[in-house]
Amino acid sequence: MPKKKKDDARHLPVVECFCGEKILLIPNVKKMSLAIETHTQKHIKKLRLPKKEAELEAERVRDDLTAKVLQKACEI
Ligand SMILES: [Zn+2]
Repeated sequence: MPKKKKDDARHLPVVECFCGEKILLIPNVKKMSLAIETHTQKHIKKLRLPKKEAELEAERVRDDLTAKVLQKACEI
């Protein structure tokens, strides 16, 4: 039987983008999506992609982070 580790609650839960940046998990859907959006803009700015590719990359980052957030939320 898997035991729930109480220690885990003490660590700040973060999700990591594939660019290596860590984003703090916030127990608030609105703020969390804002945090994802903020990183997405930063992420594509850093890459300096052409507009069309930047949009695709933004989509990819958003999807990836959203999936990771949901996954983390299940673990908490
Ligand atoms: Zn990123």
